[in-house]
Amino acid sequence: MIARPTTGHARPRYGDAALIVCDNLVRIYKVADLEVVALQGLDLLVDPGEMVAIVGASGSGKSTLLNILGGLDVPSAGRVIVAGHDLAQLGRRERTRYRRRVVGVIGQQTARNLLPYLSAAENVELPMILDGRAARRKRTLELLDMVGLTNRAGHRPARLSGGEQQRVAIAVAIANGPAVLLADEPTGELDSATSSEMFALLRRINSDLGTTIVVVTHDPLVSEQVTRTVAIRDGRTSSETLRRTQLGDDGDHQVIAEEFAVLDRAGRLQLPRAHIVALELTQRVRLRLERDHVGVWPDRAADRSTDGAEPYGPPTDRTADRGDAADDDEAKP
Ligand code: ADP
Ligand code: MG
Repeated sequence: MIARPTTGHARPRYGDAALIVCDNLVRIYKVADLEVVALQGLDLLVDPGEMVAIVGASGSGKSTLLNILGGLDVPSAGRVIVAGHDLAQLGRRERTRYRRRVVGVIGQQTARNLLPYLSAAENVELPMILDGRAARRKRTLELLDMVGLTNRAGHRPARLSGGEQQRVAIAVAIANGPAVLLADEPTGELDSATSSEMFALLRRINSDLGTTIVVVTHDPLVSEQVTRTVAIRDGRTSSETLRRTQLGDDGDHQVIAEEFAVLDRAGRLQLPRAHIVALELTQRVRLRLERDHVGVWPDRAADRSTDGAEPYGPPTDRTADRGDAADDDEAKP
């Protein structure tokens, strides 16, 4: 481990106001003699009441992240706080309690979210029984009503469609009123019409109950409907897309989506693969600070030494640079 300088008490800690804090999370799986680094220093903050979509290629670490947030797995290093619970420090009993009350989890495999020998209503009631709650019947009916399955209460999962099973799974997940709902590709096995219904339900839970939701998805429809989509690449957050609506000239609401690269606290950012390929960036790049942006140029030192041609790149005349800066300063009032 690299020792970090200790921060003063006056300085607020990273993610103080956030409901979910992932601070330099690392998860290494050891398989025989091999080490798989599923998360390599992932940072993520989620505010209370937010609904965030997580996207990323298969194997990028999405499920690993959700398993850690759900209290099913522990990080190899790093800090993870959910609703004030430090997940790396939880004891066995606290962990069980955390999983029952603080988070609700929905997995991709519809069949594995529910117990097959219990009816829909019994599945919904079970987490409340385990948590020793009173007035369960009434709440079970309310929850089934909320997910639109009042008339399926007595059915076992095998007699429900895939979409209905996932809706029961949502009712199960929110039964104990968790602060956070985690869904790992909840629409992965559903057709597009059913998945948009599912997603509408998640959005309703987010807005009506104020539940913070983190949903992993491959579905472009899903990521188009949330205000924030976080992309994970190689076990790290690499970019974020923020969406907002704006009133257009014609009076219609337009959705504006803007993609940002994520800058971590050490100043690291990932360039999009397409940029790297387009400029054939390898190993080293040149950076230049401009007044309102930073330029990135390929390091063409190798080209220069062979053909002698001046490469396209940032001006290398340092004196001229300083002159510019001085002019800028003088221009300020
Ligand atoms: P995603 O959900 O984005 O597809 P995962 O979080 O499942 O990715 O996996 C991230 C990486 O960690 C992959 O390389 C995967 O093979 C590896 N991995 C996940 N779970 C385990 C495990 N239990 N044992 C070993 N390797 C694992
Ligand atoms: Mg996965």
